[in-house]
Amino acid sequence: MIIQPKTRGFICTTAHPEGCRQNVKNQIEYTKAMPKCKEVKNALIIGASMGYGLASRIALAYSCNAATIGVIFDKPASGKRTATAGWYNTAAFEACAKEDGLYAKTVNGDAFSKEIKQQVINLIQKDMGKVDVVVYSLAAPRRAMEDGTVYSSVLKTVGEEYTNKTIDLRTNEISEITVPTATEQEIHDTVKVMGGEDWMDWMNALSEAGVLAENAVTVAYSYIGPELTHPMYLEGSIGMAKKHLFETSKEIEAKGNGVKAYISVNKALVTQSSAAIPIVPLYIALLYKVMKEKGIHEGCMEQIYRMFHDKLFAQPPLTDEEGRLRPDDWEMREDVQQEVARLWDNVSTENVGQLSDIEGYWDDFFNLFGFRVEGIDYEKETDPEVEIPSLS
Ligand code: NAD
Repeated sequence: MIIQPKTRGFICTTAHPEGCRQNVKNQIEYTKAMPKCKEVKNALIIGASMGYGLASRIALAYSCNAATIGVIFDKPASGKRTATAGWYNTAAFEACAKEDGLYAKTVNGDAFSKEIKQQVINLIQKDMGKVDVVVYSLAAPRRAMEDGTVYSSVLKTVGEEYTNKTIDLRTNEISEITVPTATEQEIHDTVKVMGGEDWMDWMNALSEAGVLAENAVTVAYSYIGPELTHPMYLEGSIGMAKKHLFETSKEIEAKGNGVKAYISVNKALVTQSSAAIPIVPLYIALLYKVMKEKGIHEGCMEQIYRMFHDKLFAQPPLTDEEGRLRPDDWEMREDVQQEVARLWDNVSTENVGQLSDIEGYWDDFFNLFGFRVEGIDYEKETDPEVEIPSLS
């Protein structure tokens, strides 16, 4: 079939297999061309099909020479529906890994569930023995518990409402938005979904099954950003979850089984998840403009490669005073933030095309689903049915 993007606001319901494959190949080529990181024998990446998780899998495989198991939650093509982008990305990654002689297997299902944890443990026992690195990169809107309770996360403030500029992604119009305050229940539920509880469950399950290597390392991802996003993010409901994630890193280490647990604070980038946050997409479009002009713009791949190479696997690991890895250091540079703040004050519907990199924002958005990728003929008949080798 001819596959074109079908968007609804910040959601794209189609994905292009060849565009996704090319994206994965580009990320692999980038990584191959960079100096190698420390060798890692076996790695587990939870949330491995998109964004920062996919980049982590590529970095671990192609820079650290690791065998990888990826946990994804994606759908294959069916009837007239294309597969999800994460499905195509994973199929492409596995095909490349195989060609390059790297072990890569995938478990597809709800990472929050006990069954998926057990499947992963069985696979590690069968094929790897133990894992040395565990990346936790889930970004999920909800979490279903064993007893049937479903928690949903919200993107709201804590304490007081917050009003600021935002961009309507359907029309590119700049308007004011008032972000409402989360209730206690909503904060609690957001922490359940995006906090550290499930990360801890994974680490406990792996440890109890005896499949964590001595001196294993685990890393989960967080965000801080500038003050203008703080009420919405750092101090909002999602920020409470990230605070819990940070505390969990300390609890994992306090278990005393030699595991080192890190939080990596990453740069704001266009991903499926960040598009859903009010205020943040406009900030990202301005940030892209400034960072591209300064020659320091990075995508997920560049960020994660730098996180592993320059920070986590530096000797000793390079952290801030709170022990966090900070690949967001370039985003947070004073000159970058001053320029973004100046643009933020001046940006309007009329000048958003000049003051921000809204084109770059949209290119990245469509790229997530394999569209607007250089070298792909979107008029060509394309077979949406693609297999993930290890799942077939
Ligand atoms: P993303 O949406 O691109 O990727 C999330 C991944 O999680 C996908 O592969 C998805 O399939 C998987 N997933 C979701 N629910 C799942 C489930 N139940 N079981 C298995 N897999 C599941 O998101 P992202 O932006 O790469 O976010 C990853 C992490 O990075 C999050 O913790 C996020 O807060 C953090 N982060 C993101 C940004 C940003 O700007 N995008 C910045 C800093 C930190």
